Amino acid sequence: MNKELLSMLLPKTQSLEKTTGSNDAITVEDINLILSYANLSREEYNFLLMKFVSADTYKSNFVSEIALRFYDIEDKKELLDFDMLNKLINLAVVECCEPKCVFCKGTGSIITLDNVSDCPHCIDGVFTFTEQVRCYLLSVKSFIKYKSKFEQIKQLIQDIEISALNKIGE
Ligand SMILES: [Zn+2]
Repeated sequence: MNKELLSMLLPKTQSLEKTTGSNDAITVEDINLILSYANLSREEYNFLLMKFVSADTYKSNFVSEIALRFYDIEDKKELLDFDMLNKLINLAVVECCEPKCVFCKGTGSIITLDNVSDCPHCIDGVFTFTEQVRCYLLSVKSFIKYKSKFEQIKQLIQDIEISALNKIGE
């Protein structure tokens, strides 16, 4: 079981015409079967499909599951407003799952007619999320207030990913 298998669930591969007579063709049903034997938690299942299949429904499921976790354990008097919590989780998901730099399309270099230079927005095509970028994406003036909560959320997502990949034998 590997990421390539999961990516078979992508809508574009689903629409490919079926190869006839091939014994090693893998179907969406096969993948769901493998996932169902892996004893994944709902969070892990949604995480894998969100990350490797990129379907929005899995993403919103995953975000609400994480939001509930943090909403439950939150101390009443420092309760983050729910919108902000959702924004933080969405950003953490993006940082954990879609870090490809949009400026250079993940190549790490900016190519102009007469020059090739390192892309200033990323390291080898993996986008660098500075506090400035985070503030911009969250529409807030300062990130300090949210920093520790954000780190907790990211840590939780990374733990879920490690656990999920372990279970499917990655
Ligand atoms: Zn870049």
